[in-house]
Parts: sequence; C-alpha cells; structure tokens
Amino acid sequence: MAQMTVSFYGHVRQYHNLKKEIDAAISQVLDSGQYVLGPALRRFEEELAEYFSLKHAVGVNSGTDALWLAFMALGIGPGDEVITVANTFFATAEAIWIAGAKPVFVDTDPLTNNIDVTKIEQAITPRTKAIVPVHLYGQPADMTAVSRIARKHNLLVVEDCAQAIGAAGDSFKIGELSDAVCTSFIIQKNLGTFGDGGAVITNRDDVAERVRVLRNHGSVVRSVHSMGYNSRLDDLHAAILSVKLKHIDEWNDKRRQLAMAYTENLQDTSLKLPYEAPGYRHVYHLYVVETEPEKRSALLEFLQGAGIDAKCHYPIAIHQQEGYPWRQPADPAPSLPNTEANAAGCISLPMYPELTDAELQYTVDKIYQWEQTQG
Ligand SMILES: *Cc1c(COP(=O)(O)O)cnc(C)c1O
Repeated sequence: MAQMTVSFYGHVRQYHNLKKEIDAAISQVLDSGQYVLGPALRRFEEELAEYFSLKHAVGVNSGTDALWLAFMALGIGPGDEVITVANTFFATAEAIWIAGAKPVFVDTDPLTNNIDVTKIEQAITPRTKAIVPVHLYGQPADMTAVSRIARKHNLLVVEDCAQAIGAAGDSFKIGELSDAVCTSFIIQKNLGTFGDGGAVITNRDDVAERVRVLRNHGSVVRSVHSMGYNSRLDDLHAAILSVKLKHIDEWNDKRRQLAMAYTENLQDTSLKLPYEAPGYRHVYHLYVVETEPEKRSALLEFLQGAGIDAKCHYPIAIHQQEGYPWRQPADPAPSLPNTEANAAGCISLPMYPELTDAELQYTVDKIYQWEQTQG
C-alpha cells in the first residue's frame, strides 16, 4: 500500500472550495470600512439566531468568552457551583472559573461520553447555581433529563455547543431547553472561521441584552460605560461565517456519512466505536474511538508513522490537569472513572467533510494492519 498523508483538518480544502464566495465577502467588508459591530456582524447574528430557531444571537470573540459572558449575564459568579463534565476542552471549566464560580464535575455515561444524568442530583448542593452540559464530539447531551433536574432544583442551564452546531436530540432542539447556548467558531469547529470567534444564542431577551453590553466595554451609548469587557466578533469573521453557515447542514450530513463508513468498516476491530443515541443527530465534530489504554500510544504512533494525523480529545481530563487552578488542597479528588477511562483510551481519527473516501479507506486499512500485529 502506497504511503498517503491524511491531515486532521480540512479547512484549507474548504477555503479552496468556497474561495470565490469567501474572497468576495472579505472584500465587501474591507470596502465598507465597517469592521467592528458593523452590518456584516448584525446580518450574521440574525442568520445564526434563525438557524437555531432562537430569538437572539450575539457574536463574541471566542467560545470561551461566549461561556463566561453568558455566565456573567446570568448572574453566575463567586460563591456559586456549576455542574459540568471533565472530559471536555479545558475552556468549559476555565470559563466557569473566570466567572468566579467553581466547576463541579460529574462523571460521564460510558456509551455517549456525555454527562451521566443519573449522577447530577447527587452533586447538587445549596450553592449549585447552574448545569453546563457539553455536547461532546457533536452529540447532544440528554437535555430532556438535564432540564427536568434543573427545573426541579431551580437551576440555570447553559449548553456548551462548541462541538455540536447543527446537532439535535431525539425530541429536543439545541437551545430549546436551556437559558443560553454557547458556541465557538475557531477554525476547526464544524462552523469555523479563519481565526477566533464565538456566539451566545438564546431566547432570553435579558441575557442577549446583557451579553451585548458586556462584550462592548459595558457600553450601549458611546462614552457611557458599566462593567464589561472587549469581546466582539469582527465583521470580517462574521462575513466569512455567513458564507459558511449556508453549507453547515450539507457538511454535517457529509460528516455523518463518513462516520457511518468508519463505523461499518471498523466493526471487526477491537476498538470501541462511537455510539449514536437513538433518534439523535450526532454531527461528528470528532470521530473518537477508544482502545485499551496501554495500547493507545502505540496505535497513535503507528498511525502517525503511516502519515495519518490522528489525535486525542482529550487525553488529560480537566480534574487531572496539573494546572487545575481552582482545586483547593482540602478538596477531595473527584471520582470520575468513566471520564478517566475515556481520557486514557481515546483516539480521534481524521474527520471533516472534505476527507476523501480514499483517505478514509487508507486509515481503516492501517488500523487493520496494526490490529494484525497485535495477535
Ligand atoms: C472549542 C471549545 C470551546 C472553546 O472555544 P474557543 O473558541 O476555542 O474559545 C469550549 N468548549 C468546547 C467543548 C470546545 O470544544
């Protein structure tokens, strides 16, 4: 078998496929002279809100800012505990910490790798203010159960949708059962720009209004300020995202087809393959398999040696991070066995709409080749 190079990302191919439209959108913004809080941003915000079937979308500088500004807007801060998961990108917990609150980790369901909704209630204390489910790898968490628990205990819910734009649950849409949805537009996300970006999408007028003020130095009227920050989605990025938003459903469908092809082809390996909850639309931001922890680095090295840029999401869970800054010495280490198993065994295979059938097949063939060496 001839050696190939299989990239982990497809954004350059995506740019080349849409070059004319994207270049035109960029020129239009540059010619307009309006680069910050301009018409391109307003237009994208309207399109994004409509895409989610929610009332408001507010563009900010990153997914991390979307989270912490949503927390600020909802009054989540010092003294509050926020329930989330530890097998996510660091930013989920980081944003809780930046808002001044304390992340409290609940273990995950070993099938979906999303929050184990049967373990949420035992983590609730009088200080609990909110639940932040993460729609990991592109599959929504069980929002029906999360919102039922939240209503019962009078808690806020903020969805971390950075990996799951365009996904849906069996009986719920994203954003339908929460106070706010936060998403990211960094390059590699399913809807990504050529840099950083994020948004808060919500039905709540008060939350949208507060995030709008917070992202702009606490200012509504020029020169009049309350407390805030500088976190705006630039018009250049908004214009690029408007072009790309038109393609997101088709791209997510392509990701789903590729995922199905991986899953069919890898059936006879020893790998644990992604699980799709019945009736859910998983949009495969990542296609993550799990291997035995002691074999993980060997398999990764084998794939990388074969030219396949496989990665891990996430090999060190947040509570295992040395730099985990919010854990007091007196706090007991949380018990998160499923989270830790996921961290120890996960491998992400190349997954993006521009991945070719030949690249997918080559990756599958290399995995079989490696399995044969394992006896
Ligand atoms: C990417 C990501 C974020 C952070 O988004 P940035 O735009 O990089 O700040 C937050 N949560 C999850 C789950 C992510 O994947």
